[in-house]
Amino acid sequence: MKPNSLIEVLDLRFKPLINQHKLTRRIKQLGDELSADYAQKDPVFIGVLNGSFVFLADLVRSCSIPLELEFVQCSSYTGTQRAHGVELSAHFDLEKLRGRHVVIVEDIVDSGQTVHYLQNYLDERGCASVRIATLLLKPEVFKGDLPPRYVGFEIPNAFVVGYGLDYNGYGRELADIYSLYEEE
Ligand code: IMP
Repeated sequence: MKPNSLIEVLDLRFKPLINQHKLTRRIKQLGDELSADYAQKDPVFIGVLNGSFVFLADLVRSCSIPLELEFVQCSSYTGTQRAHGVELSAHFDLEKLRGRHVVIVEDIVDSGQTVHYLQNYLDERGCASVRIATLLLKPEVFKGDLPPRYVGFEIPNAFVVGYGLDYNGYGRELADIYSLYEEE
């Protein structure tokens, strides 16, 4: 590891993991795949804020089909009051999803708790179908039964920042993706 390839975000150091050229190439492939699968289906893509905003912007511009775009915000939390541990807020009328084909767009699926919750929530709203597209998946920690249908990259179980992903609110603006650097 060249010392000058490390970056700092707040108090931590990160090393390069996926550069923007690889991201661009892979996202174009995902866009082509989604365009083929959802041709004539008038899908609604739902971006999960905040982390997915960069991926979502590139993904929809890689698609060559008409689609609608909406956003939800999901925050996992540790309070003991809630059964699911995920809080959801949508800024549109969820009723409009009835009978529609929905693609949930996530930046990263880790344990899978967030997307699992969201998928069940949307299934209950009578969507014609609900699938997940995630830029990153950590297979070692994923606990769900079914992995996401569309995955950009499988990555090791390390904390990552950049391309929309943050560490304590910082690092989202980085064009590449970096993973936590721990000295051996
Ligand atoms: P899950 O519910 O355990 O799958 O976690 C999903 C959410 O945790 C993502 O939408 C991210 O907001 C956050 N997250 C998980 N892993 C990372 C990471 O390595 N970097 C930044 N955020 C992460």
